[in-house]
Amino acid sequence: MRVDDQKITEAGNSLTPKKNEKVIQFDNHYLYCGLTNSHDHLEMNLYPHLGNPPYRNYTEWARDVYKPDENPVREIERIPIKYRLLWGGIKNLISGVTMVVHHNPWHYTLGIHFPVRVLKKYAWAHSLAFEKKLKNKFPFWKRTPFVIHAAEGTDDFAQGEIGQLKKIGILKPNSVLIHAVAVESNELDLISQAGSSVVWCPSSNYFMFNQTASISKLRKRIPVALGTDSTMTGQSALFQEMRTAQKSNEATVREIFEMVTSVPQKIFKLPQQRILPGFPADLLIIPIKSKDYYENLILQESEDITCVINKGKVHYSDRSLANELVLKGYIHKVGTSEKWFAYDIDQLKMNILSTGIEEKRFEGNELWKLLS
Ligand SMILES: [Zn+2]
Repeated sequence: MRVDDQKITEAGNSLTPKKNEKVIQFDNHYLYCGLTNSHDHLEMNLYPHLGNPPYRNYTEWARDVYKPDENPVREIERIPIKYRLLWGGIKNLISGVTMVVHHNPWHYTLGIHFPVRVLKKYAWAHSLAFEKKLKNKFPFWKRTPFVIHAAEGTDDFAQGEIGQLKKIGILKPNSVLIHAVAVESNELDLISQAGSSVVWCPSSNYFMFNQTASISKLRKRIPVALGTDSTMTGQSALFQEMRTAQKSNEATVREIFEMVTSVPQKIFKLPQQRILPGFPADLLIIPIKSKDYYENLILQESEDITCVINKGKVHYSDRSLANELVLKGYIHKVGTSEKWFAYDIDQLKMNILSTGIEEKRFEGNELWKLLS
């Protein structure tokens, strides 16, 4: 494969190197298009899991954990948002993600120098319970995705939300419902008739409610993508999320693969990805742990990744590969492996700690542990 200026320019078995081109050979590796994480709150990934589950629905959880005058919320919210967002970007980068659907307002930090692409054309609302003037949040343009937490719980309150969305007139083809745990056959009919989509976040669901959505039923009639949610309730790596999805027996490894690649591209009207000339060079290179291409993806850990390329540039890789490519950047440990980053993780951690927050606040944060 030949990569030039953000794009794949050639791919095949008979390429020969041109003068001054650098050739890297990967033995025992599979190549993937960069993954899409369809649900995250990028600035909320410094949190540990919060709350004392199980809850009946998201309002119970939110009222239990949102105490802005108490820690950890007080101290973490004082950290400048640009550092919190960047931390969320690093979380996704080291999971092979090249595109994230962020659920919260757009921020300039999420632009061109951010570690991953972030969907820019979207409309969002938190949820029926926590959004005033919900109808005003619905986009005018039919192609703009409208993202909202819905049916997040196991009780009648959560189940009733789908009917309510329809009643208000915002259950539409561009509506993307996050969680949909309480969806039964009536709600499934409503969502499928409306042509709306669902994003599944199983680890967050299991943490909060000890159960998840009936994805095996849903995905027969509705597009379903996969998302991690933030570390407040979810797991930090998309690989872990994929494994939780597999363990739930609601989807096969191939279906889970589609939930982080082709399905979100359709739901969020993203450019298609292929390993073919003309397509963006957003790529993930990982060692072969299983011959099965789909299973191999979900068996990975962040420290196993050989290389993540975004817009034709290496953003995260093995130290040895970075040496070979003579890349300028930063070495940082990920678990037990030394990795190369295009981002200064030590500086980011210092910036976070310079607000006076004690490092022990992050003891329960999986990503902080992985990057210490
Ligand atoms: Zn969420």
